[in-house]
Amino acid sequence: MRIGYGFDSHEFCPGIPLKIGGVAIAHDKGLGGHSDGDVLLHAITDALLGAIAAPDIGVLFPPSDPKWKGADSVIFLREALKRVRDAGYGVANVDASLILAAPKIGPHAAPIRARVAELLGVAGDCVGLKAKTPEGLGTENAAIAHVVVLLERSRSKTDRRKKSH
Ligand code: MG
Repeated sequence: MRIGYGFDSHEFCPGIPLKIGGVAIAHDKGLGGHSDGDVLLHAITDALLGAIAAPDIGVLFPPSDPKWKGADSVIFLREALKRVRDAGYGVANVDASLILAAPKIGPHAAPIRARVAELLGVAGDCVGLKAKTPEGLGTENAAIAHVVVLLERSRSKTDRRKKSH
């Protein structure tokens, strides 16, 4: 088994669409960033990469590369998942905490969990999602995500050796 942890934060900016966990959410501000600013998918991507000691999201998809401007963060997650599978692991479960003042995540929690489960290829009850407001943190204009992921071996070391021949 492997455990991975990911953290990300993005600042709210007016006039851009808001996407969290691959789900479009109606709001007067979106999350700024070089890609689509999906703070939750970025933290999940880094948790997956960290669990297999792979390079992090900023190394694999550098913000300095114009290729990733406005990119759908699903691309980053899929690459991380491919690397996890190539390393001989599968996702057991993922647990996330979102910290943001607005919008309220409650009404969007079910679609976000369902989308993340679909992207990771796991059952809906393998995706935990909590939302908190930033009491005392002074981060009202940011969205923050903390994620832990557990990986389990999907095949034996012998199988992995065979594949490499
Ligand atoms: Mg990010």
